[in-house]
This record gives sequence, structure tokens and C-alpha cells, in this order.
Amino acid sequence: MEFHFLGTGAGVPSTKRNVSSLAIRFLQCNGSVWMVDCGEGTQQQILRSSIKLSKLEKIFITHLHGDHIFGLPGLLGSRSFQGGITPLTIYGPKGIKAYIEQCLSLSNTTLLYPLSVVELEEGIIFEDKHYSVQCLLLEHVMPSYGFRIEEKAQSGELLVDKLKEKGITPGPLYKKVKAKEKIQLSTGEWIDGAEFVGPEVPGRIVTILGDTKPCEAAVKLAVNADVLIHEATFSIENQEMAHQYGHSTAYDAAKIARNAKVKTLILNHISARYEGKSHLLETEACEVFPNTYIAHDSYIHTLLRSKSS
Ligand SMILES: [Zn+2]
Repeated sequence: MEFHFLGTGAGVPSTKRNVSSLAIRFLQCNGSVWMVDCGEGTQQQILRSSIKLSKLEKIFITHLHGDHIFGLPGLLGSRSFQGGITPLTIYGPKGIKAYIEQCLSLSNTTLLYPLSVVELEEGIIFEDKHYSVQCLLLEHVMPSYGFRIEEKAQSGELLVDKLKEKGITPGPLYKKVKAKEKIQLSTGEWIDGAEFVGPEVPGRIVTILGDTKPCEAAVKLAVNADVLIHEATFSIENQEMAHQYGHSTAYDAAKIARNAKVKTLILNHISARYEGKSHLLETEACEVFPNTYIAHDSYIHTLLRSKSS
């Protein structure tokens, strides 16, 4: 699983940071891509990355502020223009459907792929055999959501050496063993498949939050996450202003990470006022939660599956 930070700035683009967008590439699922937010200029950022629009399957919009959605209509049109034909689903707050329909219809943009738009309500919003996605409302100056992506646990590996000791070689029996069935061997002996399969490999948990001041929902979404991606619009010296505008400081984000017992915290949505000194935000967060990174545009963070335990 790779996180491609396409835009890491807050509010307006700067020469160093574009406005919000994050792409997640699922290496084990054919390189399919999900996106969280799509600020203006996201297409340019994609051109500078290894992300392919044709692989994009889902877009999650945290909230309707312009720096999170003004890149969306253009990106949808380009995906069609470039020959994308596979379905795309957009999840976003109430109003996202009208926004997309109006933009596409007024600009006479036709999409040659099926587009579904789902307006969010708190709870599980997507589930398949690989992943589930849950959303909760955060605390911002307009409805803003956070997302928790949970990967399903993978069944353990076949214990091939142990099978060989029983004289079981690769073949149709392996499938039954993997399914943990009870099997009678040609010798008449019964074996329990479960004893020949290693422990389950736990799935990864990733939490990505929209704009928010510190809140309980943030902790709930982030509990035991492998990676928490949290806004850090301001530093602690501007905490009062941060909270007034529904934002967090780097210090706030670190406290959420510590309370939720996450493994890694990545800060993004950085105000342009910290250009050239964003490392100060990292330092501020590290004092509370040492395993903190600060994202920059084009930063890629890779999260491997943990070993079975
Ligand atoms: Zn906002």
C-alpha cells in the first residue's frame, strides 16, 4: 500500500505545496488507486507522479471546501478523455452530487464511464472481500469526514514442510488443507487442515482525516491504526486561531495519535505561513508522538503488511 501525497498545503496553493489530494495505491490489488480529496491542480500533480487515472476506482471527499474539491470536475473529464472506461465511485458529504452534476452539465462534459456518487452518512460506507471503509463526522466549520480503511486479515501460509512430512505433495489436497478441512489420506489417517496452516496475517488499518479540530471521532477512527494521516494547519502558538477555524495544530495531531495508539503519524494540510519552516511542526509533534513524519508534495509513504503473529 502506497500513499502518494499529491497536495499537502492548506487553503491556497503555494510554490511548494499544492492544495489537498492524496492517492493510495493498492499494490496487491492490481495497482488500483483510491483518492482522498481533489483540490485544484491535482491533475498536474498526478502527471508528476506514477499514478494513472485509468486505475482510479474511488474518490473520497472529506468536505466541500474549495481547496478539497475544485480539481474534481477537470479530473473526471480527463479520465474520460484519456480513455478511462472502468466505473468510478465518489463518496462525499451531502451536496457533492449536485456539485458534480452541475459542473459536468454546465460545461457540457460527457463521461464515457459509469460514475456513481454516494452522499455520506456515518458508518460503514464500503466493504468487499479485501477492505472495509468507515466514516465519521469530525469537527470543522462545515461537515467534514474522516475515513478508516481496514484491510481484512489474510489466511496464513501453508506449512509445506509439515505437509511433506505427512507425504502430502502439491496438488488438489492443498486447497482442502488451506480451507482447514478435515481430510482422510490414502493411508486412512485423518488430518486436520488447520494444523497445517500458519497464523492469519492481520490486515492494515489506515485513517485519513479531513479538516478538523481535535475531537473524539478522530480518536475513534484512528484506534490502533498503522498510519494516521492528520491535518496540521497550524503550530501550537496559533492554537486558539486553529480551533476557532476548525483546524488542528501539529501538537493536537500528535495527541490524537498518542491517544489512539497508532503506529505512525503523517502530518499534512500545512499552512503556507510555515513555508521553509514546516520542520518546526514535525518537531512540535515529535515531542508528544515520536514516530511522526511531515508530508510534502510528491512524498510517498509505503505501508507493508505486517508479518503474521
Ligand atoms: Zn476546510
